[in-house]
Amino acid sequence: MDEFELIRRYFDRQIEADGVIVGIGDDGAVLQANANCDQIQVIDTLVSGVHFPHATDPSDIAYRAVAVNLSDIAAMGACPRWMTLALTLNDASDEWLEAFAEGLFAAADIFGVTLVGGDTTRGPDVVVTVSITAELESGSALLRDGANVEDSIFVSGTLGDAAAGLQMLQQSGNDEYLVGRFLRPTPRLETGRRLIGHATAAIDISDGLAGDVRKLLSASGVGGEINIDLMPLSNAIRAKFSVDEQNRFALYGGDDYELCFTAPTESVVNIPGITKIGAVTASPQLMFMSQGNIVEVNDSGYRHFK
Ligand code: ADP
Ligand code: MG
Repeated sequence: MDEFELIRRYFDRQIEADGVIVGIGDDGAVLQANANCDQIQVIDTLVSGVHFPHATDPSDIAYRAVAVNLSDIAAMGACPRWMTLALTLNDASDEWLEAFAEGLFAAADIFGVTLVGGDTTRGPDVVVTVSITAELESGSALLRDGANVEDSIFVSGTLGDAAAGLQMLQQSGNDEYLVGRFLRPTPRLETGRRLIGHATAAIDISDGLAGDVRKLLSASGVGGEINIDLMPLSNAIRAKFSVDEQNRFALYGGDDYELCFTAPTESVVNIPGITKIGAVTASPQLMFMSQGNIVEVNDSGYRHFK
């Protein structure tokens, strides 16, 4: 099967979405932007063996590639519209491609984004790059640099599940919920949209709370105090891991794709699924507290090229 046949068979679906004037098949997609909107552009690459275990089900690889990009869109408060896919494959079978396409379009349909183009190449290992364009009302994007002293610090969902799930995958454990949180993260698009006009700064948690909240606070030129006893933890992680392990996964684990944001408490009381974990402070330090004591949190998540 040549590249054109592969694209036709697996990726060139009938497009009915608004704003797609020309989709897959020409040299480029022609897309119509909405009036009075800013566009948000994000891209993320997943490399086999680095971002997911080699043996991961291809439908999960594809779903995850879309979901992690959408998490960045959620952190900006935007509505996803179009995506492109750059796919590097070694010797993918029909079965592999079919599962991959199924996971890709499942995520695309659930979260309302349309595949409008891509690139297909052969290489030594699977590499999946997804790029997404999103829109939102001009001037309303949630940025990292707007946190104010005395804002509260919040997170969405629960923390640490994905890292716990990845560890279980690597050790052949089988908690379906925790493994699912790693393989198929939920981008918090609805929460992000509801934060517009209320949150003062936002970031998505891809590298663990400790590192990502630090990025937000330093972009804003402020400090913060986080009470780690307030970090929201799932029943599943509580049942399977010690308190130390739970905290380690939540602070450093990564891959949660929850949102961390700052806001005056009273302005977000009606937003469901969020937990207050701390406050923004004027002193530039970031302090972590537990039962009234300062706890040492010395590492800052997982970083490449360190
Ligand atoms: P070109 O040679 O002009 O770069 P390609 O042969 O790479 O074009 O792609 C032909 C068409 O198929 C283009 O519209 C491109 O966007 C689309 N395409 C290529 N690979 C993919 C893919 N993996 N998923 C979706 N569309 C793709
Ligand atoms: Mg071309």
